[in-house]
Order: sequence, then C-alpha cells, then structure tokens
Amino acid sequence: MTDAPVRQRVWPAVNTDTRFFWDGVAQGELRVQQCLSCATLIHPPSPACHRCTSLDLGYHVASGNGIVYSWVVFRHPLAPPFTEPYAVAVIELDTGTRLVSQLVDVPLDQIWIGLPVSVRFIEVEPGLTLPLFGPRAA
Ligand code: ZN
Repeated sequence: MTDAPVRQRVWPAVNTDTRFFWDGVAQGELRVQQCLSCATLIHPPSPACHRCTSLDLGYHVASGNGIVYSWVVFRHPLAPPFTEPYAVAVIELDTGTRLVSQLVDVPLDQIWIGLPVSVRFIEVEPGLTLPLFGPRAA
C-alpha cells in the first residue's frame, strides 16, 4: 500500500505533442499550437498542421479571453470528484480557436452563449492544475 492520494479525475495525457500546452499551464500561460509555416492556430494539439501538413509547429500565448460558444450542464450521472451539477463549455478564444473547459465562478442559470470569459489556472487536485474559465471581470 502507498499513502499517495487517490486521484479523483482523469489526468491529461502529456506527450510530445501536448507538453508545450501543459508546461504553459504550469506557468500560467494558455498556449495554443501554431503552425510556423502558415500561422494556423491548432487546438487540440496535433503532430502536424491540418491546413498545410507542416511539421514545423510552435505556439501562440493566448490572452485567455474568449466567449462561451456553447455549453452543457452535467447533472447525471455525477462521477467523482463532482458532487453537484457543473457546466462544461466550448470556449471561443479571442483568436477564434475553440477549446473545451469547465466553467467556474458562475451560477448555472447565468451562463449564456456569448458570455465573456477568461481563463483561471486552478489546482483541482494536488499536482493537477487545469485551465478553467469563468466570467470576465467588467
Ligand atoms: Zn500550416
């Protein structure tokens, strides 16, 4: 037996293609993969540009601001660590790139398409920080 804490969440798979993203999260940056040949922004990260097939990839540091493009509320079944309904949204970043994340700091009945949001880097379990989104300060 070990005294290691039991992980409640499914942790992200970090590999060669995604390491830059999670290194950014650890540094408080929301990094979006960018093709260095044609400048296309790519998310989720890919081993090659889906537009020009280039393997020459870097990243862009996003502002972390965006809007709710769409969302759902998970009510049932709730799996650990969730004990209350929670919202997951497609966030459209200011650059047009979309990503999926949990919405926080907003009552479920106050979420709407177009809601301005910004990223928050929240340690949801010891050693696991996720980029979550909440209402943008006015
Ligand atoms: Zn490209």
